[in-house]
Order: sequence, then structure tokens, then C-alpha cells
Amino acid sequence: MAFTVNLKTSMVKNSLYIQVLNMKRHYTIFLLFALLTLLIVACATSPTGRRQLMLVSEDSAIAASKQAYVEMLKPYAQKGKIDNNPGLRDRIYRITGRLIAQAIKMRPETKGWDWSIKIIDDPETVNAWAMAGGKMAVYSGLVDKLKPTDDELAQVLGHEIAHALAKHSAEKMSVAMASSIGVVAVGVAADRKGLALTGAALAAALAVQKPNSRAAESEADRIGIELAAKAGYDPRAAVTLWQKMAKVGGKGPPEFLSTHPAPENREKKLAALVPTMMPYYEQKGERPSYKL
Ligand SMILES: [Zn+2]
Repeated sequence: MAFTVNLKTSMVKNSLYIQVLNMKRHYTIFLLFALLTLLIVACATSPTGRRQLMLVSEDSAIAASKQAYVEMLKPYAQKGKIDNNPGLRDRIYRITGRLIAQAIKMRPETKGWDWSIKIIDDPETVNAWAMAGGKMAVYSGLVDKLKPTDDELAQVLGHEIAHALAKHSAEKMSVAMASSIGVVAVGVAADRKGLALTGAALAAALAVQKPNSRAAESEADRIGIELAAKAGYDPRAAVTLWQKMAKVGGKGPPEFLSTHPAPENREKKLAALVPTMMPYYEQKGERPSYKL
């Protein structure tokens, strides 16, 4: 009798177990299917015709970046380390203002963006980044260590603006979310680096700390040199900028090179673009500027 009961119990347990297994399998298949659909639906095309993964719409990337931007600048702002050198601030604002005016001509809907650039007083860090919606930062170390001319600085800033124009931030956020789906989404990522952010805003903050793909780098180089030339900055400086970047000393390569890995033949490709860009650079007349 006891045996029969046990058998029955174990049969019940077994069938329950099989049901759970089936449910798990169905759930997994469902998840895979949902992810696949998402990936297919979520493809977009970049300005140079490259396919991009877009799980995050540009609008939500912009909203998330707005929040992430404030949070990332906060520790520096609390120590008075934002825009605290008037000479450097005026120089960066002047160059960036001219570049943004050209960016708006290239993608008119970005006129509505709340464009912003902040200079972080950190003489050891050679870096600059841009988030969706034109939220940018440049570290004073980039200027201290590279000693760039205005033309070279315009290439760095043009390159950053190009990342935002070409939706690379939304693309990187999408990759971050797809590779840790459910983790970043619920905001329990171990990788949050002390940031009081969750979900998409956390993905936006992490995205600027992750390397771009080499394809995205080529695009940003191509768009950046054009923005700079149209804003009146010498396209030949794109080549010398990257030469300076490769030579900069210190412990290991500059931060900028790890988040902006060199596409194959970067300098050669940029040099090949110079003749096409020269007519923009040599155009007569005043260059418009966006008020920052
Ligand atoms: Zn880049």
C-alpha cells in the first residue's frame, strides 16, 4: 500500500517535473523567439549604409543620456572641476559651437537637441565622449597632453559629434542591453561603477565607457572630418591629431584610444579624404555658430 502511494506520489512528482521542464523549454523558446524578433525588428541603417542593432530608440537613448550626463558630471561638479578654466572653456565652446552649426545642417532635426559640452578638469585623462542628443565632455588632460591646435581639437570634437549624429550611442546602449538582457534592464548590473542609475540611463553611462566598433569609428572619422572642414578647420589636422594621439605618453595608451579603437589604416583613410574636404575648408565667408 505504502509502495503504491509512493509510486503515485513519485508519478505525480514526475509529471509535475515534466510539466515544469516543458514550461521551461517553452519559456526558453519563447524568450529566444522574442529576442530574435527584437533583433530583426531592431535593425537600422547608419548614415554610411551600415546595419545597426537598435533595441533602444534614439528618443529613449536621448532621454536616458540626459539623466546619465548629469550623474556622470556630478562628482566633478561637486569639486568645482567643471568648466573652471575660462580660457579653455571659451576655446572649446567656440570650436564646438561652429561644429554643431554644421551638424544641424547635416541632420536638421538635431536643432531641437539640448546640445552641451562640459570641460572636466582632470589633467591625467586624455579623453572625450558624446552621448545621444549631443551631450559631450572633454577632459583637460586631452588638451594638456596632446597640445592640439584648434584644427586638431576640432577633429576630436567633430569625431565626437559624429558619434551622436550617427546614433552610435543608441547602438552601443543596444549592444550593452542585448549582451546583458534582464541584467541592465532591471538595474542590478555589477558594473555600475558607483552610479546611482538604473535601466536605460545606466546603459547610457556604461556605453560611453565601452569601445566603439571599428566600423562606427570609421563612420565617425568620415563624418567628423567633414563637419570640421565645413566649420572652417583644416582637414589635414585629422591626420596629425591621430599621430599625436598615438604618441602621447603616460601609463598605457590614452583612455580615448581604448574607447575609440583605430579602424584599419585610420591615418591613410583620413589622408585620402583630405582632397574632397579641402573645398569646404577653403570656402570664403563667416562660419555660423551654435550658441552653447
Ligand atoms: Zn570614436
